[in-house]
Amino acid sequence: MAEQTKRLFGTNGIRGIPNKELTSDFCLSIGKAIGTYFGGTVALGSDNRLTKDMLLEAVNAGILSTGTNVVKIGVMPTPGIQYYCKTHSIPGVMITASHNPPQFNGIKCIDSDGTELARSKEEKIEEIYFDSAFKISNWDVMGTNKDDNTGPDNYLNGVMSKIDVNRIRERKFRICADLGNGAAYLTTPELLSRLKCSVVTLNANPDGLFTSRESEPKPANLKYLMSLVSSGEFDFGVAHDGDADRTVFIDEKGNFIDGDKTLSLFVKHFVKKGDMVVTPVSSSDAIEDICKESGSSVVRTRVGAPIVSRSMIEKKATLGGEENGGIIYGPHQYCRDGAMTLGIILDIMSRTGKKLSELISEIPQYTIVRKTIPSTGKFEEFSKKLEEHLKGYSVDRMDGIKVRKDHNWVLARPSGTEPIIRIFTHSDKREEAERLMNEVTELLK
Ligand code: MG
Repeated sequence: MAEQTKRLFGTNGIRGIPNKELTSDFCLSIGKAIGTYFGGTVALGSDNRLTKDMLLEAVNAGILSTGTNVVKIGVMPTPGIQYYCKTHSIPGVMITASHNPPQFNGIKCIDSDGTELARSKEEKIEEIYFDSAFKISNWDVMGTNKDDNTGPDNYLNGVMSKIDVNRIRERKFRICADLGNGAAYLTTPELLSRLKCSVVTLNANPDGLFTSRESEPKPANLKYLMSLVSSGEFDFGVAHDGDADRTVFIDEKGNFIDGDKTLSLFVKHFVKKGDMVVTPVSSSDAIEDICKESGSSVVRTRVGAPIVSRSMIEKKATLGGEENGGIIYGPHQYCRDGAMTLGIILDIMSRTGKKLSELISEIPQYTIVRKTIPSTGKFEEFSKKLEEHLKGYSVDRMDGIKVRKDHNWVLARPSGTEPIIRIFTHSDKREEAERLMNEVTELLK
């Protein structure tokens, strides 16, 4: 076929608005392409977005028409479906738009080892789609549906097998959990109950309109959770995004904890000599500091969970993660996992007997200031300006541009999905990180 220029899958599957970009015709055709590519049996599930049924049934019909069977595993967090694929050694399809606003939805393919499908395999599916090279089956070998509702139980057993359940149960943790109307309603309260925690849930009603709060687990959307936890009634607060692959924590005083601080904490307590940690260029230098102490090593990658998880598989890394609360624990599975992240923090807290704020205060303290600005499309020009302006800084072009002097650095990268530039400034002093951000913002004008 001619060189492929068109692309359907972005960094996190195919995303769009149903009946606009994601019409039923399109979903049917992409289902045919997926069924043609995978063959055999495919797992199919979704988060609880309002439009899930139309997308799911159209993709389902497309897959079945190619003679491929579909196991419907119902509503689940994305990592739950990935774990199902891994433990059953079958590929899968997840209908989700993660933390995007409620009008969006998406289609994401999972490999039979539970990882996000590699780009080279997505290209094969795109090729089949654009060439309409579907293997439409004869009526007598049509694919069939089977329902399997064991997914959540299977997933939680997997998480619990990786932590010290008895020690956690003894602590009788008190936890406030904000499920954000998303798919975690099925798994997080159940996990905490099995671990004998007392739980107060917020927004535990599945609601595809995300009526209670926006789906992204960032401080602006978690004010109510933070104020409840600051009452002193809880050991910590926890919140997820819509498909529960991301988890963020609120310490017992009500302070929001950045995802890379959580990752640093995990690295400190879960990584041993000779282990490897993978994290993108955007997370803090604390990871290197901690790894140096324990004799483990750090691999830096471009930003994006699939890139981190692919690199972890190649290097057999123990831990990986990003500053947005997406943490990957290799011995469990090579994808961001909301319930596993919650399990690990409970394990660390029960092992050390310390409060969450204490644990966080023990890791090296760096400040990262983040800002997004509209892209003018002249990123190269800006990069050169930045390089010239910050003379004496070393330059790293792995993802956008990162310039560094000691622990002071600036990272600027154009977003892969929106017309914006993301700027990060980092320092061991808050004022310095803020000063750098002001300088860079001035430079962009
Ligand atoms: Mg997500």
